Amino acid sequence: MLTLRTAEGLLGRDTSPIPPAAPDAPFHIVFLDRDGTLNRHRPGYVTRAADLDVLPDAPAAVRQLNDAGCRVVLVTNQRGLATHDLTESQLVEVHQGLVDALAAEGAHLDAIQVCPHGKGTCLCRKPLPGLFEQALARAPWARPERCATLGDQATDLEPAQGLGMRVQQVGEGFASLPEAVRSLLRPPI
Ligand SMILES: [Mg+2]
Ligand SMILES: [Zn+2]
Repeated sequence: MLTLRTAEGLLGRDTSPIPPAAPDAPFHIVFLDRDGTLNRHRPGYVTRAADLDVLPDAPAAVRQLNDAGCRVVLVTNQRGLATHDLTESQLVEVHQGLVDALAAEGAHLDAIQVCPHGKGTCLCRKPLPGLFEQALARAPWARPERCATLGDQATDLEPAQGLGMRVQQVGEGFASLPEAVRSLLRPPI
């Protein structure tokens, strides 16, 4: 919320600290994938905010995480930046659109981490754990085993699981994002 007003924040280049979760938050950080998780998956790269089809129930689900005191961090591979199918200014516009769509329903992201690299050229393209590690470096108060990750692909979940997080797949054939959030926030019996 505080860091996402700048292009650098929207491009995932902010390295400033992420403030601690609420003391009674059930999870320190909930990591969310973007395409297929918050917005409908479509072929090719999303290059315009108008093409970012935010799933109707996604903002309310993010707001529930906000209200529960969890920090919410977006982790997204955007290889189009490396292949020049997506420009930085387009990604800024798309992420601003996402932030606005969430804000319209009282929801927000606390940080965005982006892998802008080509395949096999970095340590952060999911399923590598770099994006998660970058966020955790900004949140030294957060313990991975008190974090969770929701995504529509196994490649979202593998790195999170490797770090000891709770994970849940969402999307077609799996729980919807609101269902996954409800199950995360359900108090243990
Ligand atoms: Mg996805
Ligand atoms: Zn990368």
